[in-house]
Amino acid sequence: MRSLSQRVRALKPSATVAVNAKALELRRKGVDLVALTAGEPDFDTPEHVKEAARRALAQGKTKYAPPAGIPELREALAEKFRRENGLEVTPEETLVTVGGKQALFNLFQALLDPGDEVILLRPYWVSYPEMVRLAGGVPVEVETLPEEGFVPDPERVKRAITGRTKVLVVNSPNNPTGAVYPEEVLKALAELALEHDFYLVSDEIYEHLIYEGVHFSPGRVAPEHTLTVNGAAKAFAMTGWRIGYACGPKAVIRAMADISSQSTTSPDTIAQWAALEALTNLEASRAFVEMAREAYRRRRDLLLEGLHRIGLRAVRPSGAFYVLMDTSPLAADEVKAAERLLQAGVAVVPGTDFAAFGHVRLSYATGEENLRKALERFARVLEARPQ
Ligand code: GLU
Repeated sequence: MRSLSQRVRALKPSATVAVNAKALELRRKGVDLVALTAGEPDFDTPEHVKEAARRALAQGKTKYAPPAGIPELREALAEKFRRENGLEVTPEETLVTVGGKQALFNLFQALLDPGDEVILLRPYWVSYPEMVRLAGGVPVEVETLPEEGFVPDPERVKRAITGRTKVLVVNSPNNPTGAVYPEEVLKALAELALEHDFYLVSDEIYEHLIYEGVHFSPGRVAPEHTLTVNGAAKAFAMTGWRIGYACGPKAVIRAMADISSQSTTSPDTIAQWAALEALTNLEASRAFVEMAREAYRRRRDLLLEGLHRIGLRAVRPSGAFYVLMDTSPLAADEVKAAERLLQAGVAVVPGTDFAAFGHVRLSYATGEENLRKALERFARVLEARPQ
């Protein structure tokens, strides 16, 4: 058989997706497992959103949609970006995608030529470097440090800029660190994009899950240089519906839509009508988001207090639903630590593919009972560790 493409031979499959699939499989086989792997809300999609999907189905809204999304949703997106993010965009400057992932994938395809550099802030979400490489780009890593709360230092970013820098990716609230970047840091990074003429990609998928601090969209500072990416998944517990969206300069948005037209045609039509309900029925959606946020806040506090009590260290996250836990008391490296925890009945994601070495990612998008059980099992692993 002829070989696979070089592109694909160099591709690492997504660690978050793989570990989560493995945890689900073990559970299906009857293994008593607490899974802290899934980067997805454990809540069901709110009823008003499900009802909108049923309505769309009953009305026969079952055909192709335009590649950039149904016009009603693009109008609602322009309104959302104005109302919640202070971004002045027209519907033509918005795009609906198959999850936030397709928005990111398409924008790297639209922006990168071979050899173009993309600055990623380490630890980063596992899919960024792979998507960059699939588009022929070169990831350039700039670290964020636990002692600085994983907030990037604009000076350190500046030192990584070269003549080939095309994109800087920022993700606040952050997966996997939970850091919420202060407004002045995001403004400084947007100023760098303006000064050095590169694109800023702002992945804001965890926008509504902030426990301390406020969300700031850097596109306000550099509108012609910023692609803002978001989606319905995390805010409205709609991960399986696959509705992401983006806004940015019209030419880039158009190119991204053209890529969709040649790959997926359009996101799922029924799911778009459901997302429209989530974005426009403000009263019902706000009540849901507030309920979920308070639950995550309680879970975060429970998990952090529990970890500290048994002597495990983690930087206190201010947003998203992840804790990056230091694995040095558990094993020699994060992969061995994740294996030991799995044997003890807790599935976590090793930090390796996030470039978070010596750490594992715990998702607290799960019930408090599960978190208590996980903490008991962590304590047992610690006790069993040979001194
Ligand atoms: N973003 C989530 C996570 O990091 C979902 C899985 C994925 O698409 O990577 O777990």
